[in-house]
Amino acid sequence: MSLPIKDILDHLHINDINHAFSTGSQWGSSANAVTKDIVSPTDGKKIAAVKFATADEYNTVVETAAKAFKTWRTIPAPKRGEIVRQICESLRANKKQLGTLVSYEMGKSLQEGYGEVQEMIDICDFAVGLSRQLYGLTMHSERPEHRMYEQYHPLGIIGVISAFNFPVAVWSWNAALAWVCGDVCIWKPSEKTPLTAIACQHIAQEVFKRNNIEEGVSCLVIGDRNIGELMSNDTRVPLVSATGSTRMGKAVSAAVGARLGKSLLELGGNNAIIITENADLDMSLIGAVFGAVGTAGQRCTSTRRLIIHESVYEAFKQKLVKAYAQIKIGDPLNENNHMGPLIDQDAVALYLDSIEKCKAEGGKFVVEGGKLDGGPYSSGCYVKPCIAEVENHYQIVQHETFAPILYLIKYATIEEAIDLQNGVPQGLSSAIMTNNLREAETFLSYAGSDCGIANVNIGTSGAEIGGAFGGEKETGGGRESGSDAWKVYMRRQTNTINYSKTLPLAQGIKFDL
Ligand code: NAD
Repeated sequence: MSLPIKDILDHLHINDINHAFSTGSQWGSSANAVTKDIVSPTDGKKIAAVKFATADEYNTVVETAAKAFKTWRTIPAPKRGEIVRQICESLRANKKQLGTLVSYEMGKSLQEGYGEVQEMIDICDFAVGLSRQLYGLTMHSERPEHRMYEQYHPLGIIGVISAFNFPVAVWSWNAALAWVCGDVCIWKPSEKTPLTAIACQHIAQEVFKRNNIEEGVSCLVIGDRNIGELMSNDTRVPLVSATGSTRMGKAVSAAVGARLGKSLLELGGNNAIIITENADLDMSLIGAVFGAVGTAGQRCTSTRRLIIHESVYEAFKQKLVKAYAQIKIGDPLNENNHMGPLIDQDAVALYLDSIEKCKAEGGKFVVEGGKLDGGPYSSGCYVKPCIAEVENHYQIVQHETFAPILYLIKYATIEEAIDLQNGVPQGLSSAIMTNNLREAETFLSYAGSDCGIANVNIGTSGAEIGGAFGGEKETGGGRESGSDAWKVYMRRQTNTINYSKTLPLAQGIKFDL
């Protein structure tokens, strides 16, 4: 561990008991609020406690944010970008501390904790440039002396519901873009990882305060799904960006849809790598193992299935078995370890249950799984990564288990491999390992992968912020982060201006008085 946790908590303003909500400089909670201890899955020790916000407190936050929006939207976009630039600087200055807290609270490796903060820095940099590029198109009118163009206006309050596995990056993907677009944000982090969210809110609010920006542009509400449900049903929140399980996404989508609001859904994945007979097997091994055991299999883009050509199947299986024997499991803050714990003991129970279900359906384990106990594993959250030979149609294979279970599936033709890859309800990330141009291009064609992300000679896990991130089918269809994802955070308006002395109607319609 590079820095003592106590010093990090002090540095990031995490107290023994943290408030339930913040509208910026102001933090609060009611006297009888539910208090929840936040325990690290790495060592089972309590880090700090948080209070859960009540419905009244949520309402106060929304009212403050709605008021702030009226001022924030008047600040020119490049000036809003300048504030995001300062937040970026502050994240750079706090990268070590925040990255370590991400690792300690969530359980991902220290390198991945730092990587997550780096992603926040990258998206802030992107948003600063974007603040001068919120372009609309101009069109030629069919009528003389008329001008047509489109422009983008801010939407208002953006509700951000985030998952435990990327406790801070997902917020920044949304907030940095939303702020430069002129929106204000209310963040409901996962109830499993609220401390990193509190640290981020302190970092952001300090910058807003220094720039004399009123309360409400950056808001935080701590709570469980009840707060998420309030947000989803709230007509004052025009866009709800929700990251989490498909189960959650269906509930959010139904509630937001019922009021004809907008939702941006980033849900579960069931990602596969196709390893062809033309693959570089050593390179494929790194992609597959990192994809399956990185973050203990708790990434939405984690590799869950390997679809391997029959001619290299046995050889690749042996390589995997050998590689798995070398994986070091333990404290994620110790950089010698490859894999840390699962988020909590409930996740361990789901992992064990999935192994049993897989066996019951006929799955054959070539690397056995199981829970690790005692000594460095006394938090009860550590498990062994495992590998099973399966059929793609098994119910358990069709389901996203958020744990390091890797399924091996054999194929004969590239068309069959693509059918298997696409033959699950989810559609987030996909990859092919091949040095054959025809195979690669077929995989990327309209007849290829049906996922939002399709890679060649790169695994499924992780993505750069420059591209639009998201997936199809049960992954929810949302896109956030780079490319033109910013458009979701704005409303598009088409303007037609007549500078002639007559009023011609479109389509040549005559209406004379
Ligand atoms: P989860 O669905 O249990 O919770 C996610 C968030 O939704 C939490 O903040 C939770 O309080 C809230 N929530 C739960 N039910 C809700 C409801 N009915 N209405 C409103 N809010 C509700 O997910 P998790 O266990 O925290 O995260 C793991 C899941 O997230 C996996 O399925 C993973 O694939 C997915 N995920 C997807 C992406 C992506 O970009 N596609 C990124 C990260 C995680």
